[in-house]
Amino acid sequence: MSARALAALGTSIFSEMTALANAHGAVNLSQGFPDFEGPAAIVDDAVAALRAGHNQYGRSMGVLPLVHAVARHEQRATGLVLDPVTEIVCTAGATEALAAAMIGLLEPGDEVLLLEPFYDGYPAVLAMVGAVPKVATLRWPDFRVPLDELRALVTDRTRMIVVNTPHNPTGRVLGDDELDGLARLCVDHDLIALCDEVYEHLTYGVPHNPLRARPGMQARTVSVSSTGKTFSFTGWKVGWATGPAPLIAGVQRAHQFLTFCASTPLHVAMGHALDRCDDAFTTTLQAEYRARRDFVTGMLRDAGFAVAVPDGAYFCLADIRGLTDDDDRTFARRLITEAGVAAIPPSAFYSRDVNEGRRLLRFAFCKTQGTLDEAARRLSAWAKRR
Ligand code: PMP
Ligand code: GLN
Repeated sequence: MSARALAALGTSIFSEMTALANAHGAVNLSQGFPDFEGPAAIVDDAVAALRAGHNQYGRSMGVLPLVHAVARHEQRATGLVLDPVTEIVCTAGATEALAAAMIGLLEPGDEVLLLEPFYDGYPAVLAMVGAVPKVATLRWPDFRVPLDELRALVTDRTRMIVVNTPHNPTGRVLGDDELDGLARLCVDHDLIALCDEVYEHLTYGVPHNPLRARPGMQARTVSVSSTGKTFSFTGWKVGWATGPAPLIAGVQRAHQFLTFCASTPLHVAMGHALDRCDDAFTTTLQAEYRARRDFVTGMLRDAGFAVAVPDGAYFCLADIRGLTDDDDRTFARRLITEAGVAAIPPSAFYSRDVNEGRRLLRFAFCKTQGTLDEAARRLSAWAKRR
């Protein structure tokens, strides 16, 4: 069941599009990874951790410097106080934290509410678990959470909802009314909220408010984050899940057999570095990303796309219908070969209303100004040739 379900999911769209971009020498605005370095001081921390001999397995739930740093980070960001020993599991990126939460907290046949477009890992892991996704759709151009649609999907098998804010790929940062509605839904139906907050520090003029801080949510929320986006080291895969001890115990039961522990020296280094994520750091990070966002939305409009301006994360969804009758996959391939620019065809992030994704492309703007300038030059030349 699980092998067939996974085979049906095929190769991740991120691997596929990056390989195509590389094969055609296209500017790669598809996969979301920065093409610039994170802070040099953090690299120095990693070198120091390697040289200091932090090179063996670490504590399975996370090396002590990191779990304590995650607790301090949480308290700075939300005011919530975590027990570093029982309420935090450190993992190989947010990806493993999400997988461990699903494997450790769900039974085969449990139903899980997802909002599409979704990060492609969610349905893949649910397939591994044998859990059943129940999907509601965020719709262009506002991508607001359809609370009534979600409520209608709830049955007595519904066990969990996955909530990603700031959201990949729409760039939505959920508002107070949506979070209140989601909290009520979870409380009314006794659901676990699995909150994917990897873009928690990437917001542009709107606050990121965690669902777990809503009334009744702390006891039922597992929050997942990582340092990949915050510090521009996506390859380090330093992530974690936090939440009440009984739920974190479930996550840990899976984590100990998935990886046992993640890369010790990088986790030790990030234990020192996470304290750098203070107000001054996030203010600069957000200002830099906001400038990139404004550049990319302008670039896409100039080339003839309609754009949904993102309030968070580092992706921009663009409507292609003013330019083509092709679907997203066909047009993404054409854009690579004709314009030399790669984007993600987001229909891969839909399972219920796939047509919603077929008219869109996702452009990542976690790139240097030089890369974005080159993309703009190519798109503008392509638009003139059309
Ligand atoms: N969730 C979302 C929404 C993401 O966009 C990503 C990756 N970019 C992840 C999870 C995975 O994060 P990590 O690289 O820390 O595993
Ligand atoms: N999260 C990144 C994106 O959305 C890519 C992650 C991956 O390659 N698996 O582009």
